[in-house]
Amino acid sequence: MQIVLADLVSADGFVSKDTVAGGYGSRLRPFSRVTRIMSAIKQRLHALPSVQLGYIAAICAAAGHDVVYSEGEAAEGDLAIVLTSLVDYRRECAWAQEQRARGVRVGFVGLAASKLPELFEASGDFVIIGEPEHAIQRLAAGDFLAGRVPSPPIQDLTELPFPRWDLLGGNRRGWSLPFTGRPAGGSFPLLASRGCPEFCTYCPHRILASYRDRPAKNIVDELEYLCAVKHRPYVVFRDPLFSEDRDRCLALCDEIRSRGLLLRFECETRLDRLDPELLQTLRSAGLAAISFGVETSSAETLKRSGRRPIPPSHQQQIMAECRKLGIVTAAFYVLGFLQDDWSAVAATIDYSIALGSTAAQFKLLTPYPGTPMWKQLSARVYETDWQQFDGFTPTFTHPSLSADELRFLLGAAYTRFYVRPSYLANFLRLRGRGLRAAERFDSSVRARHERRERAMMAKAVVC
Ligand code: SF4
Repeated sequence: MQIVLADLVSADGFVSKDTVAGGYGSRLRPFSRVTRIMSAIKQRLHALPSVQLGYIAAICAAAGHDVVYSEGEAAEGDLAIVLTSLVDYRRECAWAQEQRARGVRVGFVGLAASKLPELFEASGDFVIIGEPEHAIQRLAAGDFLAGRVPSPPIQDLTELPFPRWDLLGGNRRGWSLPFTGRPAGGSFPLLASRGCPEFCTYCPHRILASYRDRPAKNIVDELEYLCAVKHRPYVVFRDPLFSEDRDRCLALCDEIRSRGLLLRFECETRLDRLDPELLQTLRSAGLAAISFGVETSSAETLKRSGRRPIPPSHQQQIMAECRKLGIVTAAFYVLGFLQDDWSAVAATIDYSIALGSTAAQFKLLTPYPGTPMWKQLSARVYETDWQQFDGFTPTFTHPSLSADELRFLLGAAYTRFYVRPSYLANFLRLRGRGLRAAERFDSSVRARHERRERAMMAKAVVC
C-alpha cells in the first residue's frame, strides 16, 4: 500500500502543530511590529517535522508499505493520514475531502482528532482516538480501519521503532546562527517521554495519556542513529518535562559521552527539575538551550491552577547558571489567568524582564477542550470557532479584563520584553560594563513605552 503522511502547511500566520499545546497547535498572526519579527524568526527556527508522523512512517515502512510525505500538495496514494490541529482544522478537512474525491481513503491522527473527532469524521474514513501508534500498527498489518478507532497508549515505548526522518523529507540543511541555540532548519525532534506527571489544570499536554518515559540507553540509541544520518545533529527534545527523572538525565549524559556522540540538543522542563550540577552535566553532553514555563509571577495564581510554584530565588539561580554556561533560555508566560487584573499582568511582564531569560513567549490563557480548566471556564467561553483557540486570541469572558485589554497587554508584553537595550545586550551575551551600560538606557525606553500605552489605553502597563 502507498501511504501519504500529510503535515499541512498553513498559509495564515505561523502555525505550529504536532506537540505544540499538546497537539492542538498554536497560530501567531502578527499583531504588532515586534510580533511580526517574532513570527518571521519562528518560521525559520521553529518549523520542525512532526514526531508523530515520524513514528507512523517508521511503523508503516517496517511493515513493507511505501510512505510518501505531503505538506499540502496532492500525492498519489491508497491512503492518506492527516496530522490534525485545532488551529487549522478546516484546511486539514478540506485537504482530506479533496483526497477522498480522488479515491484516496483518509484517516486523521493527533490530539484535536482524539478530543474533537466530530470536527473531522465527516471529512475522512476514520479518526484515531489516542496516541496513534497502536492503531497504525493494526493498519500496517492489514486491518481495515473505519469510524472512530480507539488507540490505547503504548506502555513500553522501547517497543516503537525510531522515527524515519528520511521518509518525511528529513536530513534537511540547517544553518547555525550565532546566539540563538537552535539552528535555522535541519533539527530533529525526539520524544524521550510522553505526557506529564504534573497537574496544571490549563495544560493539554497531560490529557491524552499518562506519563511514560524511555530508558537512557534506548534514547541514546536513537541519538546514535541520528548522528549516523547527519553530522552533529541538533536535537529538540519535545517532552514537556524532560528532566523529571534526574538520574535518568545523568545516565543519558554519561551514555552520550561514553559513546562519543557529537550533537547539540535543547529541552523543555520545569526549573525546579534543574540544579547547577545537572545543568553542567547536560551542558557537557551538548545542551544548547532550555525552555520552561514561569507562567505568572503570582504564586497564589499558580496554586489556583494546580501548578506548583517555584521559588524566585531558585529560578534566578538557574538563570545565572545558564548564563555562566552559555545556555540559551526561553521562558513561557500566560497572561489572563482568572485571578489576573491589569496590575497583576504588568507584574508578570516586569518579572519576565527581571528574570532575564534570552527569550520570552507570552500567550493568553486558553481553556483547551479536555482540560480541567475547560470545565471550569466553559460557561464563560464565548468563542465558537475552534480555530481561534490559538493561544493568542481571547476566547472567554474574563472577570477583570476586557478582550481589548487582554490583546493590548499581550502586545505590550512583547514590546516591553524585546524593545529595550538590555534585551539586546543579554541576547548578545554582554556582561559587566556592557550590560550595565545598556541597562542605563532602559529607563528612557520604558518611559516611551509608558507614554505610548497611556496614549492608547489611558493607562500604562505598570503594577
Ligand atoms: S508542568 Fe504543567 S504546564 Fe508543563 S507540561 Fe506538565 S502539566 Fe503541562
